[in-house]
Amino acid sequence: MKFSKDYIIGFISGEVENGQTQFRSSKFLKEKYYGDKVIIRGLLEISNYCKNECLYCGINSRNNKITRYRMTSKEIYNSIDIAYKNGYRSFVIQGGDDPFFRDKVLLEIVNSLKTNFDDIAITLSLGERSYDSYKKLFDEGVDRYLLRHESVNKELYSLLHPNQSLENRIKCLYNLKEIGYQVGTGFMVGLPSQSYEDIYKDLEFISDLEPEMVGIGPFIPHKDTKLKDYKRGNTDELLRILVLIRNILPKALIPATTALGTASNEKHLMALKYSANVVMPNITPNSYRKKYQLYNDKKSKTVEELITKGIKISKEKGDHYDFRKKLYR
Ligand code: SF4
Repeated sequence: MKFSKDYIIGFISGEVENGQTQFRSSKFLKEKYYGDKVIIRGLLEISNYCKNECLYCGINSRNNKITRYRMTSKEIYNSIDIAYKNGYRSFVIQGGDDPFFRDKVLLEIVNSLKTNFDDIAITLSLGERSYDSYKKLFDEGVDRYLLRHESVNKELYSLLHPNQSLENRIKCLYNLKEIGYQVGTGFMVGLPSQSYEDIYKDLEFISDLEPEMVGIGPFIPHKDTKLKDYKRGNTDELLRILVLIRNILPKALIPATTALGTASNEKHLMALKYSANVVMPNITPNSYRKKYQLYNDKKSKTVEELITKGIKISKEKGDHYDFRKKLYR
């Protein structure tokens, strides 16, 4: 890790003077590797079924107040088709940890998409799977995989994720790296009982893993979860964390997350100015969109809103800098 623990904690908490140097260097590095455009990825939320019970999440299996949905293969294909016709070339297919999407089902979906749209990149964000499953999906043409590590503090991880293991989470991330995916990880800022020291350790883990993508959002409570009465994460601290990540991993793809945009429009724009270079507009059919609420009041940015704010966008595949040089499979 290139920064000391004391420095990181001081910087995140706003106690370090001259923090502007970090912001300037972050902006410089972002533009050096990715220019002044923000990469757009279409986000398709294919299922709000989930077998897990994460305490902060509005679609966790214990929440019986929501209506569950699962998109059919045809609906998934049609949604990608519409977005493709609107110029999108990068897609994130996300869902709860839904056992329905076993390998056979997913492989057929990926095969159909990659056969009919030969110039797209597919990112999956569908939770923990076996090495074998990740490998088959990669071989079928999936390019990237998102799996936030959430917290490397074992106690905090267990508290927030009943019946899940931190060891397996981390093993999955290293498996994805070994297979050859562009890997995304990350965590939330402002979780109940999360300390600055915890965040330092999360950054240390990210520095060691060297993921290609790092997604960090503020904790936002959901009214039907056990954490409903806790306050939102601090977006100033979040901005400083994003700047640190850009300085630790200069070539990383860093989204200005929907959660950040939901918590503060202004901070979302600042993240795009100084550190972040990815936005994921929602391409989920309207009939399902409201049912996929990991937290309340979710506000996804549209491409039009970004353009209105003077942001230059790119709808291309948007590979990590080091992957651009590799031949596309
Ligand atoms: S955070 Fe993900 S794994 Fe956890 S309950 Fe929500 S959808 Fe499921």
